[in-house]
Amino acid sequence: MLEASPILSSTITCPVCRFSAAETMPTDACQHLYECKGCGAVLLPKAGDCCVFCSYGTVPCPPIQAQAAKSIRDV
Ligand SMILES: [Zn+2]
Repeated sequence: MLEASPILSSTITCPVCRFSAAETMPTDACQHLYECKGCGAVLLPKAGDCCVFCSYGTVPCPPIQAQAAKSIRDV
């Protein structure tokens, strides 16, 4: 339970056309660019977010998940 493995699948919803697609996240890197499969818009992370999954995905990226799990454990 403490070593819960991160969720690697996130559904990104395009803010331009609302098209959503399930994507697999890399475990050790942040993805800063994402090209919408619906309209072709290139998405960038919002200010304060480390990657497009944190900004537009249903699940934040693995490093953020690990951070969240750690902060819950430390409280
Ligand atoms: Zn789009």
